[in-house]
Amino acid sequence: MGPGKVSGRISKEFIDELLVRVDIVDLIDSHVPLKKTGANYVARCPFHTEKSPSFSVNRNKQFFHCFGCGASGNAISFLMDFSHLDFVEAVEDLAAFAGISVRREQAAYVADASKKEDLNSLYQVLEKVAAFYVEQLRETPKAIEYLKSRQVKGAIARDFLLGYAPDKWSSLSEHFDQKLLIDAGLLVVKDDGLVYDRFRSRVVFPIRDKRSRIVGFGGRVLDDSLPKYLNSPETPVFHKGKEVYGLYELLAKNSKPQRILIVEGYMDVIALAQYGIHYAVAALGTATSQSHLDLLFRFSSELVFCFDGDRAGREAAWRVMESAFSSLKEGRSCRIMILPPQHDPDSLVREEGVDGFVHRMQSAQALSDYFFEYVTGGLKLSEVEGRAQLISKARPYLERLPEGTFREMMFSRLQDLSGMASLISVDDKFLAPPQISDHRSRPQGINRLSSARVAIALLLQHPGLAENVEQKDIDWSGLEFRGIELFKSILSVILDKKSVNTAVLIEHYRDTPEEKQVKSLALLDVYVTEDKVEAVFSDALNGLLKQARDASIARLQAKAQAQGLDAQEQAALVNMLTNK
Ligand SMILES: [Zn+2]
Repeated sequence: MGPGKVSGRISKEFIDELLVRVDIVDLIDSHVPLKKTGANYVARCPFHTEKSPSFSVNRNKQFFHCFGCGASGNAISFLMDFSHLDFVEAVEDLAAFAGISVRREQAAYVADASKKEDLNSLYQVLEKVAAFYVEQLRETPKAIEYLKSRQVKGAIARDFLLGYAPDKWSSLSEHFDQKLLIDAGLLVVKDDGLVYDRFRSRVVFPIRDKRSRIVGFGGRVLDDSLPKYLNSPETPVFHKGKEVYGLYELLAKNSKPQRILIVEGYMDVIALAQYGIHYAVAALGTATSQSHLDLLFRFSSELVFCFDGDRAGREAAWRVMESAFSSLKEGRSCRIMILPPQHDPDSLVREEGVDGFVHRMQSAQALSDYFFEYVTGGLKLSEVEGRAQLISKARPYLERLPEGTFREMMFSRLQDLSGMASLISVDDKFLAPPQISDHRSRPQGINRLSSARVAIALLLQHPGLAENVEQKDIDWSGLEFRGIELFKSILSVILDKKSVNTAVLIEHYRDTPEEKQVKSLALLDVYVTEDKVEAVFSDALNGLLKQARDASIARLQAKAQAQGLDAQEQAALVNMLTNK
């Protein structure tokens, strides 16, 4: 492998620089033609279906936002969502768009180079073992008989690279490097050093990642012996929480499926594919995690989860709902399809035909309905106690929903059911995004916004204002106002960086607890014309500082009377009184 191909970690400075150099308007326009209206560029949203454009791109902020579905972010986020890329892939594509080459960290270069080498040999051995298993299937009549009995056609077996692991303890060691087999999870190593094949006498299902590399295997017995299903363990290339079975095969048929059906086992995926339902995937013997959902939502906005009608199935449905809450927003939908008793997807599609099965999927219960049905179950909503229980049961889940219309609608449904007037706490209000209707009909005025929101929003939108703050030479010790931690954090990020714009700041907060607040404040419209920005910011900041000082002075004076102040507090009080 040439040195140019070896990848280290992409440096943070490079990402900042890239976000400053690239123009998000050009980037998005090359994927979704934009139209200029006022300060913004608009289009029909690529992330949800709509008739009139509510997707807007702002050149100054280097930020996009959809008022319809709430999608928002910088150029990297756009590529991740639009082209279904992971973070590194998106940075690489963005650099290519800007015509600059990706800069990586030197220290990581060496370590990563040898690690990457190792991973490549794992991928290679997995690939060869898969071919070996395919070969074995051809030579094993009872395995072929089994697949025939499940009505698996040759074409499907080829699409999914189905194979057979022979009924021997060391068929792999005879052909491949033992250390690699162990690292790839294909051999079991006992405490006494005994080593043997993990998969024996099973039909095997290679699990491919979305780049078509084999990362592991699943195996199913031919008879009723146990365990019925067996999976590769976690290895450096196989992370069960991040892979689903059948995704590669699905995307090979259709890169933008209208919906994805999530079923329980490999055979369900295969059986549905036989009937032309090529959009089923299966989690790999683990509960569906939030990373599974985020992965699947990158390819389709509708997920349908299929569960057995028994108690275990219903419990699994609830667990999926729990992980789904952090991924749900408008434009995305999850449905829960409970199978009739004694049926699996295979037997059901056989009995009802494809049309009947598809109809069941389409009429499956929306996750929001399922949720409220579940949380109200057994509660007497005619009584105060029952309604209070409902709130304490439901609210923790709703609070995990991302900001946006869907969240608001779920809260208002809870309000209706519980009869509570307002369920949103004061803190939520401070940081809640502007009401969506505010965007089109102007708000009554800027005075509805707190000084802290105005100051933080303007600082995010015009990072150059950090200089004005520096000139004020503020002594932050002892000052308190709501939002001060965030304000100080953003300020120090700006002062730390060589080049900065709103997109760089949003990048800094990616995957942090502040991400949501930062994004919503970055797009908060404070209705200030360019020439007034500095003055409004300065006013807001002075107001905040005065408020904070007054509050501190009052607190210290009260304490002085009640119990006296220590030397440090005394000095702070004098300082604040003189600088007032
Ligand atoms: Zn949208």
